[in-house]
Amino acid sequence: MLSVLRKIVQEVSTAPDLDSVLDLTVRRIQRAMHTQVCSIYLLDTISQRYVLMATQGLNVEAVGQVSLSPTEGVVGLVGQRAEPLNLEDASVHPSYIYLKSTGEERYHAFLGVPIIHQGEVLGVLVVQQNERRRFDESEEAFLVTVSAQLAGVIAHAEATGSIQPVGNNVENGGERFAQDRRFSGVAGAPGVAIGQVFVATLPADLETVPDKPAKDVDKELERFNTALEAVRSDIRAVSRNLAQRLRSDEQALFDVYLRMLEDNALAGQVADRIRAGNWAQGALREVVAEHVREFSAMDDAYLRERATDIRDLGRRVLSHLQENVNSQDVEYPDKTILVADDLSPAMLGLVPEDKLVGLVSVSGSGNSHAAILARSMGIPTAMGVVDLPFTRLEGREVILDGYTGRVYVNPSDDLKNAFGEILREEQMIAAGLETLRDLPAQTTDGYRMPLWVNTGLVSDVERSLERGAEGIGLYRTEIPFMTRDFFPSEQEQLQIYRRQLEAFAPRPVTMRTLDVGGDKALPYFPIEEDNPFLGWRGIRVTLDHPEIFLVQVRAMLRAALGFGNLRIMLPMVTSMHEIEEASKQIDRAVRELQEEGLDVERPPVGVMVEVPAAVYLTRRFARKVDFISVGSNDLTQYLLAVDRNNPRVAGLYAPYHPAVLRVLHFVAQEARKEHKPVSICGEMAADPGGALLLMAMGYDVLSMNSNNLPKVKSAIRGTSLAKANTLLQRVMRMDDAEAIHEYLRTSLKDMGLGNLTRPVLPGR
Ligand code: PEP
Ligand code: MG
Repeated sequence: MLSVLRKIVQEVSTAPDLDSVLDLTVRRIQRAMHTQVCSIYLLDTISQRYVLMATQGLNVEAVGQVSLSPTEGVVGLVGQRAEPLNLEDASVHPSYIYLKSTGEERYHAFLGVPIIHQGEVLGVLVVQQNERRRFDESEEAFLVTVSAQLAGVIAHAEATGSIQPVGNNVENGGERFAQDRRFSGVAGAPGVAIGQVFVATLPADLETVPDKPAKDVDKELERFNTALEAVRSDIRAVSRNLAQRLRSDEQALFDVYLRMLEDNALAGQVADRIRAGNWAQGALREVVAEHVREFSAMDDAYLRERATDIRDLGRRVLSHLQENVNSQDVEYPDKTILVADDLSPAMLGLVPEDKLVGLVSVSGSGNSHAAILARSMGIPTAMGVVDLPFTRLEGREVILDGYTGRVYVNPSDDLKNAFGEILREEQMIAAGLETLRDLPAQTTDGYRMPLWVNTGLVSDVERSLERGAEGIGLYRTEIPFMTRDFFPSEQEQLQIYRRQLEAFAPRPVTMRTLDVGGDKALPYFPIEEDNPFLGWRGIRVTLDHPEIFLVQVRAMLRAALGFGNLRIMLPMVTSMHEIEEASKQIDRAVRELQEEGLDVERPPVGVMVEVPAAVYLTRRFARKVDFISVGSNDLTQYLLAVDRNNPRVAGLYAPYHPAVLRVLHFVAQEARKEHKPVSICGEMAADPGGALLLMAMGYDVLSMNSNNLPKVKSAIRGTSLAKANTLLQRVMRMDDAEAIHEYLRTSLKDMGLGNLTRPVLPGR
């Protein structure tokens, strides 16, 4: 059973479409369980009937024709109860009905299991046997396991439009998408955008290559042939180098590779696809995928392994094709919506800023670093749109709703008009907020709340100053590290840091030491871990690499010469000894520079509270350092045990969870007991409702993305500290995160601050 299961899982994951998945599933199950019949019924969402979609043993003519209502037959009963039904003799069951058109015999043994995805019944998987018998526990477990595997595939097919509601399709550019076809993800950065898709391809990652019409077929063929030739000569070179060390049969593998690349094999098929109109990279992806699928489905283990070779060859050809594409050849649409399988901070700079109107990522979540930077840039963003068929969207017009994380493909004029209206409203609100720039963030009863910004991108400095930022509460130094090919030198870092310090002087600039790991990878310093958010991150990395830490601190100290506005902040601290260790390194850097004759002073040093252990050590930490800053993004993920980067649990990532609020309040009180300033630099401070609560909790500084600063300032100027205190007291008595969020939204509206909350959005 186990090997059959493994085979089904493998075949299902490589099958070209849903029909093939269903078909091969019923065939394999029927053979493995020795039943007369195996069938799959799927619930049609429009007719609300279970339609026979695949069968082995019944009349194939009945597929797509025979259907049952949820109250009909034992199949309907399985769907209704959403649990397995195992009957020794179904024919005597009160729900039993005989379906003549399926050509079935009057059967006795019946086992049906529901196909459930995210709590919703999508269909029923059934086996039948003519004689009386009871299916045993292991057979039931087998069917349940297959059904769980099927559920994900069916849900994905429904979401991507492989199964379409009847009569709702339009033909568009050769690809069928229902009008206003909606794909749901999670909110990344607020705002809406209407634009054309440009798919960002990862280097040598075939799966992220989109289809695109070949502009010049001959040129594409030439590019492909050049790339092929380059791969051939790479293979020959490797083969020569290893000639002494390999046996002749091992050496023959290289000849196999070379033959695969010949005209009558892979190369010829790719060339045909190019002639049919796809660009070289898209044609290569199609052909490689087909071969991989065929090899993966083979019974012979040796032949199955060849799928890996084909994939590897495809990757090699692709990387040469990508080398041959000049970045200046890339033409971005005037209103580009950049779509990526996994949007990384480094990709945000791909498209010229005046052309970039939106960002979409298939993976990741609202608290991934790419989303945080997108918010800072003010670019509407949807994250975790897991079902988006992004390779088929190149050049298409889409609407992006960054408030809810939805993407609409093939939008109707009505939907475009409705979103166009919201775009205009947003522009008016933004223009209104601009007038606040030089006004203080002061409540109506005279309480002054310093508003600082989080930076990282070069463009952040100008944007922040334009919006009236009073300091930098978090400069994410890892961002400039990410867009390079190796660690920047001390001199390079000095120049990067100086720009921030100089632009803001005399206002304070808080520079966080390198915080890599988690979802922040450096291309030249890969960290492979099963559990990266619980792994080698932040201060753990830099304390293990004092040479990197020391160079960074020296660069910061030198960059601040003459400005005196530097503050150094340590990320991901969990223990006292980390602070002591880092302090020693900072003292050493100061001493070294002084010995070199530079007039540097030890700057204020602070720690971030972003893991639960640090929460309970806040007072002790506060005695050792000059300031405390709460990183509520990580603190929320660690308190709630919810990966900030995982769209599947994005709904559980709740900044207004009562436990999070309690902890935030506690940290502010603890730091104050030691008379040390306490700030917050997580995204919560950027939400107008959150900012009012944090002000009431006693935070001395709120640091946020510059884009939201005017909204937060407007909220603070529109209310009193007394009202914020009342709001906090109420909220602290509430038990449910969603109820708290909703209460904050309505309270802001009641205070006349409704325009700072999310607009009413169109769409189903
Ligand atoms: C945080 O964790 O809240 C924080 C500000 O740091 P980052 O988002 O860069 O991890
Ligand atoms: Mg953090």
